[in-house]
Amino acid sequence: MKPAQKLIIPSDRGERWHYIKRMFSSAQGPDLDFNWAGGRSNGLKKLHSIDVATYARNRNFLNGAVTHLSPYIRHGCITLPEAFNYVKKQNAPLADRLLMQLAWREYWQQVWFAQGDAIFSELEPAKVVLGYQPMADDILKGKTGLPCMDAFIADLIKTGYVHNHARMWLASYIVHHRKIDWRAGADWFEAHLLDGDFASNHLSWQWVASTFSSKPYFTNKESLSRFTGEQYCAGCLAQCPFNASYEVLSSKLFDQSISPAAKQYVITHLPKKAVSTSTAMAVFVHDEMLSAANPLLEKPFPKIFVFDPQIHGTWSLNRLQFVADCLSEMKDVEVWLGDTYEVLLNRGVGRVITLETPHRRIRELLEPFVPKYEPVAKLAKVEVSAQRLKRFSRYWEKVGPHLLHSIVA
Ligand SMILES: Cc1cc2nc3c(=O)[nH]c(=O)nc-3n(C[C@H](O)[C@H](O)[C@H](O)COP(=O)(O)OP(=O)(O)OC[C@H]3O[C@@H](n4cnc5c(N)ncnc54)[C@H](O)[C@@H]3O)c2cc1C
Repeated sequence: MKPAQKLIIPSDRGERWHYIKRMFSSAQGPDLDFNWAGGRSNGLKKLHSIDVATYARNRNFLNGAVTHLSPYIRHGCITLPEAFNYVKKQNAPLADRLLMQLAWREYWQQVWFAQGDAIFSELEPAKVVLGYQPMADDILKGKTGLPCMDAFIADLIKTGYVHNHARMWLASYIVHHRKIDWRAGADWFEAHLLDGDFASNHLSWQWVASTFSSKPYFTNKESLSRFTGEQYCAGCLAQCPFNASYEVLSSKLFDQSISPAAKQYVITHLPKKAVSTSTAMAVFVHDEMLSAANPLLEKPFPKIFVFDPQIHGTWSLNRLQFVADCLSEMKDVEVWLGDTYEVLLNRGVGRVITLETPHRRIRELLEPFVPKYEPVAKLAKVEVSAQRLKRFSRYWEKVGPHLLHSIVA
């Protein structure tokens, strides 16, 4: 790894994006789309323009009034309780539809906290026989020949945002039609999504695959064509793999005769480093807490963020630009590029305080600095048993009534 280097993030957006492109010359993909500029101020604009009632009516349609909040929530520009309370205070009809979607994020996070690295392996045996082919080139290039799938892949690569329904369809096409290893698909998504998050992403892939759900998820042409407003199906000349009833598709796609064991994937750990001998404190700003409003930034210690290739090395260019936008609003934060251990040692740091995270890489990097973790602001203050965490429906049964009748502190 190259020696660590301090970055001076330009305040002008054009210069900033260009600077990031220069500093991360091996990062893949196009520049950040203007509509996805990062930072708390842009996150708040998106939050304040939510149309809760319309969302409830049409969120499943590709052109529905979805919020586009996910990259801002993922990076901590706005907190989940903040978004939840804002929606609740609108007193709009059918607000529970959006509130429940916000709870999905917290649910996946809780599963990650509870299961740790197990989320990167199959949490349960698949309910059907899965294939474990490597990722295919035509998918990576967005040239499957299916106009719908190629359009979703183009969204992923060009903007880093894909509608929830399209994520489900694309994941099920990859896992069930193409018999590709769900982990390969999940890792690919995570590298390109602006909201890439191990919990929401990898666990959703497991949900589609049926290794964390009771059955595999797949769609048919009728449903796809309805929710896309026919925009891909109308002129499609491809041999459509979705054009059948669910019963026919199910018997075509799945061999249900064998009950396979849950596949385990190898986890690589970072080498252990010596504990720092200094006692000087710093606030370690990681990529889930990118907001100037984060209370940890009020602490009277240096605040340090590191673009560390061991964490951010697979991220696309537009996501790195999104993060730079967030950091440009956080005036007191020093930004570095390089190895976290080296940066913190060179800065004379011995102890860090930071926001709690289940992210093992971050935890491993901070181990030599005896980290103190401040709790993440959660939606649900109720205890949820491990049994309930196995399915969202059971989780929601417990926390839903509590959440829908209270404002979250
Ligand atoms: C295969 C697959 C991969 C996914 N990967 C990610 C990911 O890496 N990061 C991520 O944040 N979401 C992921 N999701 C969940 C969901 O697709 C996105 O959160 C959502 O599409 C973001 O768009 P939005 O902000 O307009 O959502 P909206 O529908 O407007 O929802 C509002 C907010 O609720 C939360 N939310 C809604 N649905 C879900 C859900 N199913 N799971 C978790 N949170 C949800 C998000 O924070 C979202 O911003 C994935 C879903 C699938 C099927």
